[in-house]
Amino acid sequence: MSRDGRSEPTRTQVAIVGAGPAGLLLANVLTAAGIDCVVVEHRSREHIESRARAGFLEQRTLDCLSRHGLAERLTAAAVRHVRCEFRSADRSFTIDYGALAGGRSHWVYPQQLLVGDLVEQLLARGGTVLFSHAAVAIEGIDGDSPRLACRAGDGSLVELACDVVAGCDGARGAARLAIPENRRQTYDQRYPFNWLTVLAEASPAPEQVVYAMHPDGFAGQMPRTPDVSRFYLQCGSDDALADWPDARIRTQLRRRLAGPDGAELGAGRILEKGMLAMRSAVTEPMQFGRLYLAGDAAHVLTPCGAKGMNLAIADAAVLAEACIARFRDGSDALLHAYSEVRLPDVWQSQEFSDWLLALIHGPRPDAGALTYEQRLRRARLAQIERSGSFATTFARRYVG
Ligand SMILES: Cc1cc2nc3c(=O)[nH]c(=O)nc-3n(C[C@H](O)[C@H](O)[C@H](O)COP(=O)(O)OP(=O)(O)OC[C@H]3O[C@@H](n4cnc5c(N)ncnc54)[C@H](O)[C@@H]3O)c2cc1C
Repeated sequence: MSRDGRSEPTRTQVAIVGAGPAGLLLANVLTAAGIDCVVVEHRSREHIESRARAGFLEQRTLDCLSRHGLAERLTAAAVRHVRCEFRSADRSFTIDYGALAGGRSHWVYPQQLLVGDLVEQLLARGGTVLFSHAAVAIEGIDGDSPRLACRAGDGSLVELACDVVAGCDGARGAARLAIPENRRQTYDQRYPFNWLTVLAEASPAPEQVVYAMHPDGFAGQMPRTPDVSRFYLQCGSDDALADWPDARIRTQLRRRLAGPDGAELGAGRILEKGMLAMRSAVTEPMQFGRLYLAGDAAHVLTPCGAKGMNLAIADAAVLAEACIARFRDGSDALLHAYSEVRLPDVWQSQEFSDWLLALIHGPRPDAGALTYEQRLRRARLAQIERSGSFATTFARRYVG
């Protein structure tokens, strides 16, 4: 016991806040390298392993997971995607971005399954996850011995003393706020619409992602399994979930996803729905003292372009390498350079996501210049459809 009556903190080299894709990838790589770490996760294991979110993995993400021996189940079960379709009531075309990007692909594998795989692997490697423990204070990051205090589900306080804190606690986590306000800057953007996100039965699923542009607004369909798709519907920025009963969702999906061929796309039984305020943000730098941010804790993207989880895993892989260099070779150079190394990739993804969002959304209902906007969009789509070099650039950036 310490003099103030509290239990002595548990000592670890890296304290990781959050068991999302970023925190779990980092913990797996560090544990495999013999570096001691503890993951602290606010939610239960059951919760994180059933939380449906992303599903589109870039080729580089699959490559990274494979390199670290974490892709066995994923490789067996993931579905390869190489095409996407842009459709409107009078026109539809498909881009074979896999071929244009030299054979690189997207891999569809639901995020909750990946999280489950990463937890299982981590425990098999001897790693530690404190489930149902919320980080409540991160202190001493500007010195040599940071501490992380967490509140367990039974109300008790657990403290970790460490050398490095990895803030992988998502968009609403505590880690980013531990950086003094005058030492971080957040660049953010709130788009003037929301997306209604719907997980629903849809069979047969289209073979590709569908981006549908309709006067009522955007609709998208991203197959997750042969029977289940993630759907998105553009709606007003003040809309609430209560404004969207299931019958309205199904009608709007059918209407907006209808293409010129009369093919009917649409949702069956709705499994889950949510209202997503569309925003993007980047916090710079992604580090302060001994605290390093990875994934959504440092940058949030709209789901448009499916970049968020991929960036989270890319951050974690770079941070893992930097920690290994510190603890194995005694070199802090990679840790010092972490933010500088990651930010160009982060901003490229932000740029692509913002560009795609602008392409597939109609003008705001009150914007007036509907025809001009529509004509511009048609011109932009024609560039993707007809200009080989433009399509190739699109493909390379889309597939990651
Ligand atoms: C509907 C939807 C669809 C998406 N589709 C895609 C897609 O197709 N492709 C893609 O790449 N991305 C997609 N994304 C984004 C993707 O889900 C996120 O970018 C990804 O989850 C980020 O991973 P992360 O590890 O940084 O954070 P998270 O997955 O958010 O994990 C953070 C973890 O930290 C925990 N936590 C939070 N606060 C604390 C605390 N105080 N103490 C302890 N633990 C804490 C949380 O419970 C959580 O488990 C989508 C997102 C949504 C919402």
